[in-house]
Amino acid sequence: MTTEPTTPDKAPSEEIERPIRRPEVLSTCDEIVGACRVLGSDRATLGLVPTMGALHAGHLSLVDAAQAECDHTVVTVFVNPTQFGPKEDFSAYPRDLDADLVALGQHGVTLVFAPSTEEIYPEGFATYVENDGVASEWEGACRPGHFRGVTTVVAKLLNLVMPKVAYFGQKDYQQSLVIRRMVADLNMHPEIRVCPIVRESDGLALSSRNVYLSAEERLRALALSQSLRLAEQLVDDGEGDTAVIERRMRQLIESVGGVALEYIALADPYTLKSVSEIAGPTVAALAARVGSTRLIDNTILSGTLSDLEFS
Ligand code: AMP
Repeated sequence: MTTEPTTPDKAPSEEIERPIRRPEVLSTCDEIVGACRVLGSDRATLGLVPTMGALHAGHLSLVDAAQAECDHTVVTVFVNPTQFGPKEDFSAYPRDLDADLVALGQHGVTLVFAPSTEEIYPEGFATYVENDGVASEWEGACRPGHFRGVTTVVAKLLNLVMPKVAYFGQKDYQQSLVIRRMVADLNMHPEIRVCPIVRESDGLALSSRNVYLSAEERLRALALSQSLRLAEQLVDDGEGDTAVIERRMRQLIESVGGVALEYIALADPYTLKSVSEIAGPTVAALAARVGSTRLIDNTILSGTLSDLEFS
């Protein structure tokens, strides 16, 4: 007679699925300052992940990095009007705080700051963080005032949360440099971490704006990451002339069609000044419109993000 193998009894605790805790959501500056003071007492470390919500796996990779390194993670969800130009997509920008809270709860986040526009920019607000240098290139040239809005809101969030570490994505490589510059120039204290770009399996960099793309536009949008992969391949094969690499990238993008390039740059990863030869780690970055959706992407040629050294 054969007997069915018996499974050992499970301890009762293993059978109980733990409910995912929804993070606490605070919406006023006073509340977040108070909560962060409490969290940061006893020398506990705070990590800050600033986002505009509509969270995806790219944002959540920053959350995971913060959770791994810090005692507590504060995620901010705020669609910052001052970083959008008058003709940009501020009002259409995707917003889904409920879904964001579920995702953040699943990643163990307990505190979220989701203020209103009036809370961050009350009547009479008149002080902005202006920037120059790396902020004048690429996105700064295409989107006047964009970085002024970014640095203003990030400075405010840093002041409110007072984190030990703040997390940003390589997806917005130039933004990460602008933030590093601000922190150094204004003698701010947080360490800045930059996490690699999270991509779909076909290469498309995750972005909250990808929801705007039709199926056909999404296919065309692959030209951005494909052109970056081509640049990496050319460098691996020994090509060092950036004019050649840029030409090949443009040809690839033009061959796909329906992708309106705003810029392609091969540049020094610290200054963002164009380089004519690949003589060390070099950032290749581009921005393009696919239909009405503006997308950006980048990669580090002849090295990786972790090869870059910031003081
Ligand atoms: P956003 O909500 O677009 O302002 O992005 C918030 C943060 O998430 C920024 O530091 C972005 O660089 C980062 N981020 C956005 N997309 C990605 C991605 N695909 N991979 C890694 N980080 C990302």
